[in-house]
Amino acid sequence: MNKVRFFRSIQSKFIIIYILLLLIAIQVIGSYFIRELEAELLDTFKESINDRVDLLNYNLAQAFNRERPDDGSVPTLEEEVQNVLSDIDNVTISHIQVINSQSRVIATNDFSDQYIVGKKTTSDIVQKTLLFATPHDEVKLNPVDEQRIFVKADPIFDEAENVVGIIYLESSLEGVYGQVQKVNKILLQGSLLALSVSAILGILVARTITKPIMEMRSQAKTMATGDFSQRVNVYGTDEISQLAETFNELNDRLRHSMATIEKEQNKLSSVLANMSEGVIATDQTGQITLMNEAAGQLIGKNPRDLIGENLLDFLNLEDQFDEITALQHSGSMIIDLSGDETFLIQASFSTILDEDDQITGFIAVLSDVTKQEKVEQERREFVSNVSHELRTPLTTIRSYIEALTDGTWQDQDLAPRFLSVVQDETDRMIRLVNDLLQLSRMDNKEYSLNHKRTDFINFFHNVIDRLEVNIQENIIFNRELPNKRYYVWLDEDRMTQVLDNIISNAIKYSPEGGIITFRVEYRRNHLLVSIKDQGIGIPYEMREKIFDRFYRADKARTRKLGGSGLGLAITKELIEAHHGKIWAESIEGKGTTILFTLPLMKQKPKRRRKS
Ligand code: ATP
Ligand code: MG
Repeated sequence: MNKVRFFRSIQSKFIIIYILLLLIAIQVIGSYFIRELEAELLDTFKESINDRVDLLNYNLAQAFNRERPDDGSVPTLEEEVQNVLSDIDNVTISHIQVINSQSRVIATNDFSDQYIVGKKTTSDIVQKTLLFATPHDEVKLNPVDEQRIFVKADPIFDEAENVVGIIYLESSLEGVYGQVQKVNKILLQGSLLALSVSAILGILVARTITKPIMEMRSQAKTMATGDFSQRVNVYGTDEISQLAETFNELNDRLRHSMATIEKEQNKLSSVLANMSEGVIATDQTGQITLMNEAAGQLIGKNPRDLIGENLLDFLNLEDQFDEITALQHSGSMIIDLSGDETFLIQASFSTILDEDDQITGFIAVLSDVTKQEKVEQERREFVSNVSHELRTPLTTIRSYIEALTDGTWQDQDLAPRFLSVVQDETDRMIRLVNDLLQLSRMDNKEYSLNHKRTDFINFFHNVIDRLEVNIQENIIFNRELPNKRYYVWLDEDRMTQVLDNIISNAIKYSPEGGIITFRVEYRRNHLLVSIKDQGIGIPYEMREKIFDRFYRADKARTRKLGGSGLGLAITKELIEAHHGKIWAESIEGKGTTILFTLPLMKQKPKRRRKS
């Protein structure tokens, strides 16, 4: 916030208004007072002049009305008038003329203008007085020295009330105006003094008013920085003090609200941070404003780098939605963000509305559904595979049975062959259903292993022996088994099934005269069992897939060989149930080795003591 310049501050405004008001008051009072004073002084002045004129008029009227015989015993009118005038002091009345009814000056008290005696006067006021026979006066400027003078013309009457002469007088008003000016000067000085005193007082008063305001201003500044710890001082109980009190209340409320908001924010951010789902919030234009860590992790980018990006661009949705507002109707959708690897996310969109139901933003909740989708996909594939595998033997059975019903049953040669095919297919179906059942039980953990401490080498020999006896193809079994006892904790029936599966595959895919090598190696804590053949081998990229359900590397061939692709899947489950691992190594066209591990049991303490 800028510092308020002095001339714009409230303090200066107070002082200026204060002085202006005072000035106006002084002006009004002063001018009224001066006007009244001037009028009063003028009245007094005029009264004193009038008194003297009245006396003079009386004397002159006598002179005018006197009988003047020609014997010279009585002085002439002019002489007598001149005598009367000579008795008058000319301190206040500077200039007196006595004029006869023909406007001729017959005497003057001023020796300097004796030359006008006998001349006609041109004065308007004299003419008016002669004409109207009433006294006239006026205040006018002396054209010579520019001083104000009082001029009066008073008619002199004879006994018959006829105007016989005029007393014309001029008197300087400088005495009166000098007095007015003096008072004016005193008033001005007084005003200046009053103004200076009140300016100082004004500053002090304005200070006391603005001080709390300044304090509130600086407090507001502190509050703007988020610091609500300080309070303003309250001086007294006036409006400003009440404002200060309200200000403090506001401060307290704001502090409380801020604390609540902060708490809510912390709650929200900890909820967002601990959510496993990704959350992205945008403004109404779709620009990302908030993104939690989970969303960043899902997408593999730093959430802070994505603030300000457009949500539609970011989720590759620009093709599906022209505008962000279209999202509000989309609900939830699966978005494919696969790059090198399959990556599917589920996004649920919702809108943020204000009180007027206007959209102010969007929220997208993201979760990784790659695994679920994969499982779902596998389930669909599985169902389709099962149906397919069951349909093939059933179709065969039906066609053979149809042929038999159509009359082949009477054919001595064909009927037994047909029935044997039906039997084979039924067996195959039973095998398949059994395999499926076993897998399903394993999936549901509805089985338990019948563990026994077993000498694995001996057990392996027995399995191979049994298979060797039954073998029909020209295949050579080569045993590279150590001549030692290794004890393993296993379910013999299930392990027999495992070895049967692996060895039957080896036999199935071996060429005429191929050698199958059985090897067992001791490793730290476990045995490594391998069954190696010289068969067709498995393409490198399918090494892991052969353990999937219904997977067959070469469908045409394996079907001919009678497999459904469940053998190795069951085998893998069983090996894992024995806490082992299974994998395949193969060179295409040269042969395959299936390897698995089995954890070794610790040697019995009793035996160790003996040895
Ligand atoms: P099932 O065992 O259910 O009768 P299957 O033998 O076809 O049928 P798996 O044992 O699971 O099924 O084997 C899966 C696939 O792996 C086979 O179809 C085959 O393509 C391939 N495979 C398995 N063992 C070998 C091997 N020793 N040599 C070459 N290919 C093999
Ligand atoms: Mg098999």
